[in-house]
Amino acid sequence: MRLYEQTAADLSRMLQSREVSSVEVVRSFLERINEVDPHLKAFITQTPVMALDSGGEIDARRMRGETIHPLAGVPVAVKDNISTMDLRTTCASRILENYIPPFDATVISAIKKAGMPILGKTNLDEFAMGSSTENSAFYPTRNPWDPERVPGGSSGGSAVAVATGMAPLALGSDTGGSIRQPASLCGVTGLRPTYGRVSRYGLVAFASSLDQIGTVSTTALDGALLMSLVAGYDPLDSTSLPDQIPDYSTGLELDLKNLRVGLIRYGRVEGFDPQVTETVTQAASLLEEHGAEVGEVSLPLTDYGLSAYYLIAPSEASSNLGRYDGVRYGFCSDGDSVEAMFSRTRGEGFGPEVKRRIMIGTYALSAGYYDAYYLKAMKVRTLIRRDYEQAFKKFDLLLGAASPTPAFKLGEKTEDPLQMYLSDVCNITDSLAGVPSLAVPGGFSSSGLPIGLQLTARPLQEKLLLKAARFFEEQRQPAFLRPRLEYLEGGGSNEI
Ligand code: GLN
Repeated sequence: MRLYEQTAADLSRMLQSREVSSVEVVRSFLERINEVDPHLKAFITQTPVMALDSGGEIDARRMRGETIHPLAGVPVAVKDNISTMDLRTTCASRILENYIPPFDATVISAIKKAGMPILGKTNLDEFAMGSSTENSAFYPTRNPWDPERVPGGSSGGSAVAVATGMAPLALGSDTGGSIRQPASLCGVTGLRPTYGRVSRYGLVAFASSLDQIGTVSTTALDGALLMSLVAGYDPLDSTSLPDQIPDYSTGLELDLKNLRVGLIRYGRVEGFDPQVTETVTQAASLLEEHGAEVGEVSLPLTDYGLSAYYLIAPSEASSNLGRYDGVRYGFCSDGDSVEAMFSRTRGEGFGPEVKRRIMIGTYALSAGYYDAYYLKAMKVRTLIRRDYEQAFKKFDLLLGAASPTPAFKLGEKTEDPLQMYLSDVCNITDSLAGVPSLAVPGGFSSSGLPIGLQLTARPLQEKLLLKAARFFEEQRQPAFLRPRLEYLEGGGSNEI
């Protein structure tokens, strides 16, 4: 088996026992990127020199017998809305096309301190606004299971990188599904932690009350290893939670005998693929067969979740994106007056979806409309949170779909924003409630596309989610399936 086919946990073990060097590991992933990425375009910026340098440094430290982090030498890919010092961070936007941050996000400092080589920055929908990675100002990323389909979004690049062995692990961000939905469409595991569990310092703000950084991995254990590194209190993020973090990566066996699982009954959701419903139902039966108590749960307010989200998120975005005026950051156009310069900079720098959000958000916040839209949406958000509190009185874990359909075709929803918004319908209420939520592969459609399950737990119960993901992994044979990539020259691989 080639190095790029190994899990992060196995690479960590092989590095620690000096079976392989970090430079060898990095090289294997760089070769894989060279082979695969031209077809799928998961990366915006590749950093081979930096990755090899950092691999070499780790090898030298290991040779000297220094105590180093278990993930030292295991490479990682990073979504391009997470600030990296001296390395371009574009948010897949023309307005930040040449922006080089003068500082590292807290998660990046942690990764560098641990000695994880960064392979590059991954593609996304512009400013993480979208569900297909087609809103990238540069190019769409393609789904490795069928390159005519989308990988989901907005963390599409991170999901594709991990699904295809271009990176063993990746960081993504999830505001309203941006880790879970692409993970589901690409057949990998994606965790959105509790709001405040992972520092947002250095994550370029989209909707600050919803944004969270999280992990993309092939296995639950790998996700746990990365979580152990990036989670925790950060004084630089005022919404960071002070609670101690558990050891996410040990004791991942799920105690099914004492587990109450609520199977989510979706209300008025249009366009739900029956194969998705079937996969979720089978997953519930599997839990029941192994001793869990399974009942139905309805979250009555979820019907309003999408509407509330698409007022709250654009409102926050309209304010957060006010800073891109051509003066302080990035791209700057010219004009006869300051106003003309502002308006040309923003007109040329932002893509259509970002402009749509800014307009909706500005409208929803303006005098006379605030009460009718923003305030009402915030009230709905409170009611949604209460729905979850009620559900968690009866259940420890909620089980549902991570996306209403498997991957859709490129271009299928770009002309109809509402259809695009509907593809996050399963993910959005967890975000509004601030609870942790995870997508894990559940099965395949008749045409061979991955279908994801979504698991949701009480605040700070990420470990329970990882245990449940591990349970589903153990039920699958093989535990993780890679796309075959027949369209690559010489044919692709492979299963691990
Ligand atoms: N697709 C959703 C949106 O467009 C969620 C995006 C995200 O989580 N960043 O807002």
